[in-house]
Amino acid sequence: MTAKATRVLVLNSGSSSLKYQLLDMGDARSDNGSGAARLAVGLVERIGEATSRLAHTPLAAGGATRETTGPIADHQAALKAVADELATDGLGLDSPELAAIGHRVVHGGLKFTAPTVIDDAVLKEIERLVPVAPLHNPANITGIRTAQALRPDLPQVAVFDTAFHTTMPEHAARYAIDVATADAHRIRRYGFHGTSHAYVSRRTAELLGKAPEDINVIVLHLGNGASASAVRGGRCVDTSMGLTPLEGLVMGTRSGDIDPAVTFHLKRVAGMSADEIDELLNKKSGLLGLCGDNDMREIRRRIDGGDERAALAFDIYIHRLKKYIGAYTAVLGKVDAVTFTAGVGENAAPVRAAAVAGLEELGMAVDASLNAVRSDEPRLISPDYARVAVAVVPTDEELEIAQQTYALVTA
Ligand code: AMP
Repeated sequence: MTAKATRVLVLNSGSSSLKYQLLDMGDARSDNGSGAARLAVGLVERIGEATSRLAHTPLAAGGATRETTGPIADHQAALKAVADELATDGLGLDSPELAAIGHRVVHGGLKFTAPTVIDDAVLKEIERLVPVAPLHNPANITGIRTAQALRPDLPQVAVFDTAFHTTMPEHAARYAIDVATADAHRIRRYGFHGTSHAYVSRRTAELLGKAPEDINVIVLHLGNGASASAVRGGRCVDTSMGLTPLEGLVMGTRSGDIDPAVTFHLKRVAGMSADEIDELLNKKSGLLGLCGDNDMREIRRRIDGGDERAALAFDIYIHRLKKYIGAYTAVLGKVDAVTFTAGVGENAAPVRAAAVAGLEELGMAVDASLNAVRSDEPRLISPDYARVAVAVVPTDEELEIAQQTYALVTA
C-alpha cells in the first residue's frame, strides 16, 4: 500500500443486490465528524433479472444520480458495472489510492469478534456458517469472491454484523434448551445489526460528552428490520435478535418474539411446511402481517385517517418496544441513554414519543418540541429534568465498516 492509499470501497452484497460506497478516509473535508468523505454511493438491484437497475451518485463530483436499467447477470457483472461508473468519475477501482475493500458480512458466528482481513481460511469459516445464515452469508461470499477477482492484490476485510454482540455473557446468549443439542448445531443468540449498534452507542457517548466506557446505553435500531441492544460501558451485554434476525422486536415483515409452539401448531394443525412457516414469520408477519403495510409512514397516515387495524399494529409494535426498554433497563441496572436510530427510529417522532410514554418512573421522558425537530444530526429529545437522556442518532453502517476496514489495514 502506498502512502497515498486512503480510499475504502464498502460493499454490502444481498442475494440480488449490491450496495456500495466509496469513501476517502484521509480527506480533510469531514463527513459526520469522522474525517472521512463520501466520494460515491450507489446500488445495483434485481441482479439476475432482465430489469436490473444501477443507481450511481458521484458525490465528490457533486453530480446527479445516474441510473441505468437492463440485464445484469450476476454479482460479477454488477461489480464490473459499478467499477465502470466509478471510472467515469475518475474514481476507478484500479486506482493506487484504493487502500482496501470492506465487506459487510452478516454472520461471523463466535469466531469473528472483530474485523478480519479475508484469506482462504476466513472465507472457509464464513462458508461454514451458511447453515445458520442461509439467506445472507452466501450473498456476502459471492461479493467477496467477485471483489477478490477484480483486485486480487488488495486487502479485503470482512466486517461482521454479529461481532459487536460477541461480548454478550453466556447467560444472555444461551437459549434454555438441551446444551448438547444446542452446541451440536451452534444454536445460540448471536444478534445482528452489530455495526449499527457499535456506531450508534459510540456516537451517543460523544453526544453526551462522555467516554463510551463510562455510560450504559439502550440502542433501538428501528428500520425495516429492528433490534434493541443493551450496551454497558461500550460492550454489548444483550440484544434482541437471536440465532437469526427473526427474534425480538416487531419488524416490518418479521414477527419478532413468538411462542415457539406456534411453529409446531402451524405444521401439525395448519399443515404448513417448514419453508412456508419460515416465509410466513420472516416475510408476511410483523407490521405487514398485522395491517397490510410495513412502511411506518403509511401506517401513520392510515392511523391519522382513523384506520383501526393500522392503530392496533402500531400499538403492538410499541408494546413490544416498551417491554424491551424495560427489560434492558433491568439488565443494565443504570441507564444513561436510550437512543433511537435507523429509518423508523430517526424519522418517526410518534414512535419515539409512544415508546417512551409512561416511563417517567424509569427516568425517561421525551420533550414534544425537541422530538418534532427533523435533522440529520445526532440530537437529544429528552427534557433537561429527565434522568436518562433520550437521543436520536442517525446510523451509518457504511462509515463504520469503512473506518474499521481502514483502521485494520493501516494498523
Ligand atoms: P431502514 O431499514 O433503516 O432503511 O428503514 C426503512 C423503514 O424506515 C421504512 O420501511 C419506513 O417504515 C421507515 N421510515 C423511513 N422514513 C420514515 C419517515 N419519514 N417516517 C416514518 N417512517 C419512516
